[in-house]
Amino acid sequence: MYTENINPTPIHILSERFNNNTFFIKRDDLIPFSFGGNKARKAVLFFEDLRAKGCDSVVTYGSSNSNHCRIVSNIAASKGLLCYIVSPVETYRSNLNSKMIELFGAKVIRCSVSEVRDTIDKVERVLKNKGYNPYFIPGGGHGKIGTHAYVNAYKEIKKYENDRNLHFDYIFHPSGTGTTQAGLICGLLIYGGKKKIIGMSIARRNPYGGKVVHSSVNEYLMGMDMEYVTFDHINFIDDYVLDGYGMYNDAILETIKQLLIKDGIPLDTTYTGKAFWGMKEYIKKNQIKGKNILFIHTGGTPLFFNNLGELKNE
Ligand SMILES: *Cc1c(COP(=O)(O)O)cnc(C)c1O
Repeated sequence: MYTENINPTPIHILSERFNNNTFFIKRDDLIPFSFGGNKARKAVLFFEDLRAKGCDSVVTYGSSNSNHCRIVSNIAASKGLLCYIVSPVETYRSNLNSKMIELFGAKVIRCSVSEVRDTIDKVERVLKNKGYNPYFIPGGGHGKIGTHAYVNAYKEIKKYENDRNLHFDYIFHPSGTGTTQAGLICGLLIYGGKKKIIGMSIARRNPYGGKVVHSSVNEYLMGMDMEYVTFDHINFIDDYVLDGYGMYNDAILETIKQLLIKDGIPLDTTYTGKAFWGMKEYIKKNQIKGKNILFIHTGGTPLFFNNLGELKNE
């Protein structure tokens, strides 16, 4: 019921002309399964691995209102696989994702953040004792498989550039666990091109956030006869996280409203709207002018609707 090998997602031009730059957007929110997004791009590969390993059930970790858990539980339900979600009690708030996760019949096991590791082990043990062969997907689709999903995305970007004889000087995108960013950086190293990949942190601070991206890059490249990447290669920008995950301000709401009105594209306050606003602030601060800039829409369409009521006219 979903496409195993997803087609390249569309790239199109935006009406935004800030600082005489040309802005393009890659619509990973339009990946045709469960409202798309970067979690869909990653999850498709994890489910291929699950099938290759002959597993018959899935265990993952994440907030039971997250994009990741929505997509994993939707794919599991479509395949008739049992799905367990180990979920931290601390971050839970009911939203449209959590309602869908309930609808998909995933079993949500709540525990405190400190008990996550033990709880995952326990769930896997119980499943094995019942004769199941469970497959574990790391939170957010982190890890080599998740990184590979964005190596593929980079390949699509490269092909787009070659076909149209144009060149992106920058790629901006929201960065969380850093898997998306690590994949794009690895793609750039493997397939070539001269551009800056700039991850706009939506939560984590440096040096931790950047270090996770850095180690994901080198984990992926290990054994590939590629040069070790140094830390100063990683542009993980934490200047626009505000007070942390999920925090937003009026300027972010205004950014979301403008992109919806002018280009008909939905952004959200946690990831894409926050990163798009951060990107413009970064461009202003660093006086980037007259460049081709690609923004990756990492998805989360249901999240757009959570804040729709706040997008008011003055
Ligand atoms: C999870 C998520 C991200 C962060 O992706 P990482 O690969 O963890 O950095 C960005 N945008 C959206 C919409 C997400 O759901």
